[in-house]
Amino acid sequence: MKLILLGAPGAGKGTVAKLLTAIDGSVQISTGDILRGAVQAGTELGREAEAYMKRGDLVPDTLIMGIMEKRLQEPDCQKGFLLDGFPRTIPQAEALKNLLVKLNIRLDMAVNIDVPREVILDRLCTRRTCENPQCQAIYNVKSSPPKQEGVCDKCGSRVIQRDDETEEAISHRLATYNEKTAPLIGFYEKEGLLKTVTGTSSDTVVSELKAALNF
Ligand code: ADP
Ligand code: ZN
Repeated sequence: MKLILLGAPGAGKGTVAKLLTAIDGSVQISTGDILRGAVQAGTELGREAEAYMKRGDLVPDTLIMGIMEKRLQEPDCQKGFLLDGFPRTIPQAEALKNLLVKLNIRLDMAVNIDVPREVILDRLCTRRTCENPQCQAIYNVKSSPPKQEGVCDKCGSRVIQRDDETEEAISHRLATYNEKTAPLIGFYEKEGLLKTVTGTSSDTVVSELKAALNF
């Protein structure tokens, strides 16, 4: 399947993407994971992106398009892909549209995961992430803590609160979402690709999508 996952930070895009990869081997492409990996590895991309990310601001569109143009041409994308956290602005959506035409790729749908704001706020404040860039497993101190506090179940690395998951950065990320990313819902509606799924449980979201895509 070839999907765009839209939704506010904390809506569960990453969790839904992981569940969907298990269905047909489509790959999850998270620009946030790619960027955090680059920051930790200290590459040029990471150095350029770091300050924006720490503030909860978006990284410039040109950097993101550079990443995606390469990533979408890697062979593992042929089975399908789940775009998690991209596009995030109208210019990125326009650029993606042109890129897909150039690569002769057709999207199945753009999924808007719609979750109430209170749920989002609560999730983001309690979210913890494995600091190993190759893992980046996600935990929640309330609903799904690691077996041993502060230690990743999957790889044994430290589980930490992300720099951009302080209360201040979170409210900034949500404001940025409303201003820059929410307009994509209208964009994909016009394209005839939009499907809105309301649900606070990622399992429910996945079942609805399976039905819509005939899986
Ligand atoms: P979340 O969805 O929880 O906000 P992500 O992991 O998707 O987190 O993104 C973390 C940060 O990486 C964003 O706050 C932003 O700075 C940067 N980022 C990720 N994807 C994009 C994108 N498509 N365009 C611009 N910035 C991005
Ligand atoms: Zn880990």
